Amino acid sequence: MKRIGVLTSGGDSPGMNAAVRAVVRKAIHDGIEVYGIYGGYTGLIHGNIEKLELGSVGDIIHRGGTILYSARCEEFKTEEGRQKGIENLKAHQIEGLVVIGGDGSYRGALALTEAGFPCVGVPGTIDNDIAGTQYTIGFDTALNTVIDAIDKIRDTASSHERTFIIEVMGRDAGDIALWAGLAGGAETILIPEVNYDIDEIATKLKSGLDRGKRHSIIIVAEGVCSGIEFAKQVESATSLETRVSVLGHIQRGGSPTAFDRVLASRLGAHAVELLAKEKGGQAVGLNNNQVVANSLRDVLSQHNRLDLDLYELSRELSI
Ligand code: ADP
Repeated sequence: MKRIGVLTSGGDSPGMNAAVRAVVRKAIHDGIEVYGIYGGYTGLIHGNIEKLELGSVGDIIHRGGTILYSARCEEFKTEEGRQKGIENLKAHQIEGLVVIGGDGSYRGALALTEAGFPCVGVPGTIDNDIAGTQYTIGFDTALNTVIDAIDKIRDTASSHERTFIIEVMGRDAGDIALWAGLAGGAETILIPEVNYDIDEIATKLKSGLDRGKRHSIIIVAEGVCSGIEFAKQVESATSLETRVSVLGHIQRGGSPTAFDRVLASRLGAHAVELLAKEKGGQAVGLNNNQVVANSLRDVLSQHNRLDLDLYELSRELSI
């Protein structure tokens, strides 16, 4: 392969830039030209394609967001839309594509591969919800953003004897809530994968107060219910005064952590290696600190399972 493309798609995540940089630098190092597709699959359909040089990705390793921009594109879910994309790629003599994004973006990459255009997926999402990799690019950064917020909220919570409910991202996956709750010492963690019992939570909050705790912190993944909704449930079950913080999009931004930069560098470079060997239809990942590749089809057919041992540990440590 002499010329490849790279795009970022779906929800952005910190570290996407470091992945783009790795793709560009590794490809050029190996004698392959790289073209950037601006604006995800929308940009692909509209032909927003430009050559990237070594300098195009200078000074971006530490920046959140994505210099290639991202988008959600309904048209790409149609065969016609994808055909337009393939025509634009061929018009630029691009022979393979690196897609950095979440599972929706992977579906697009698989559809392109099945239409005869080889793609490799790189897991870029804060949700950590992609099978075939223990970590996705951006998860660690988002986690640290949430922990920073929890620590700050804890300061004010302890001054005022309050129960704080912090709503974090995670529609279907509880990884951010679970890891942040464990690392932030939360009393209770609500995740989409496990049902909760409001009476059990109320009893725990009261027994904490009885033994002299001045505050409690509850982490709620947005997929369970809104923080405000859960606060109402807590207030009616306990008559405790609650405060709610919805962290929202700050979880998507910020300079990527060292972990995410290294992960992005390793996975981006491996994606290029696979394309160079004409191994399309794969998704790269990290397993036991080894860079691995699995077929996009397998990755999409598996459900990424939350670490229930970690959930149990969080319960044991927050008695
Ligand atoms: P993420 O990649 O973060 O999961 P989305 O689920 O929004 O984000 O997916 C990003 C884009 O991937 C969509 O806007 C669409 O263009 C494309 N996509 C998603 N599902 C499919 C599909 N089944 N076939 C083709 N393209 C898809």
